[in-house]
Amino acid sequence: MNTRTAEAPGRVGDVRRRNLALVLGRLGPEAVATRADIAAATGLTKASVSSLVADLLETGLVEELGVTRAGERGRPGVGLSLSARRGALGAEVNVDYLAVGVVDLHGALRFHEIAERLNHGRPTQEVLAELAALTARATQAAGAEGIELLGGGLAVPGLVDPDRGRVLTAPNLGWRGASLGQALDALAPGAPYGVVLTNEANSAALAELWYGRGAELGDYLYISGEVGVGGGLVMGSELFAGPGGNAGEVGHMVVAPGGERCSCGGRGCLETVAGQDAILAAAGIPADAGESAAARIAALASALAAGDARALDAVGRAGGALAVAVVGAARLVDLSAAVLGGHFAALREWIEPALAAALDDLAPGLLAPGAIAFSDLGTTAALRGAAGAALRRALGAPHVLLP
Ligand SMILES: [Zn+2]
Repeated sequence: MNTRTAEAPGRVGDVRRRNLALVLGRLGPEAVATRADIAAATGLTKASVSSLVADLLETGLVEELGVTRAGERGRPGVGLSLSARRGALGAEVNVDYLAVGVVDLHGALRFHEIAERLNHGRPTQEVLAELAALTARATQAAGAEGIELLGGGLAVPGLVDPDRGRVLTAPNLGWRGASLGQALDALAPGAPYGVVLTNEANSAALAELWYGRGAELGDYLYISGEVGVGGGLVMGSELFAGPGGNAGEVGHMVVAPGGERCSCGGRGCLETVAGQDAILAAAGIPADAGESAAARIAALASALAAGDARALDAVGRAGGALAVAVVGAARLVDLSAAVLGGHFAALREWIEPALAAALDDLAPGLLAPGAIAFSDLGTTAALRGAAGAALRRALGAPHVLLP
């Protein structure tokens, strides 16, 4: 795990560490802030800002733009921005695929690779070894583009203990109490901020906030449709994970009492009606056809487009179950929106009307028109969020990069 961000002794004192992060927080991908702008915004002296910026330039997180502009007062200044030559690796293990990507400090996805794999029941270390081969390719591609990797993030569909690098339970992978240990850091060898372990749906929820439409939606529940159904609550522009880290697990909210058994051991969870396999089974599209999940979802979309009654009924029931969960969550914590990702986004054309009709029936007027959004991030959402977590770690502790 990441050791250098701990309180390692160094030449940078606590106040300077905070001020470095404070100055860095004023910069964005395009913000052509000058040293004078930053001094005015932070209350630091211009001399302090100049000295802090000199350190930040040395870390490589920040770059000077060639352009100058007239300052609001006084002389023109040199513009500063975050550097697109620094980035982080994002990786995801899901039930039916492995995925890796590289996200730079401007938020751009600079590399993406996805490999169809059936990971349920495979040993953790075997899956991570295969993933490491993918991340090595991503690292190489980043290097070829001149991007230095600061760290990485790994998203898995389960409950995690990020401090110990442990997957507590991931029922759809069949993993329980798995310590990832060295295999986690091996995904981004030598990266100064190490590799952070995250929950897939929480990462996707944050990716929507950082790189998608989340910022304009207010407080929202993100619902991720995969083989399982995951969720993440974003409130006050932060993830609300609750004291045990399990808040937002909407996939295991009971929406059908007396319904089917769930992978969690419970009964009638949202996942048993709206999970990918549940919808496909209800639609009469067999699971053992040897086809990829994407191909089966495409087959479902064709059946829906052709007006197949069984397929329409399956998706209609999923939309209705989603509405039950969204209404319950919205009533409980006063949400203003919900964002649907994964196969829900892929099936939007059919899910959306079913969901809207059920919301209108169950709780008319509870959510404003337009409050149900569909993610554009596709299968990259979780890995973008995992990489984003690593980037935020760097932006919060830039002193780690100083000698
Ligand atoms: Zn369940």
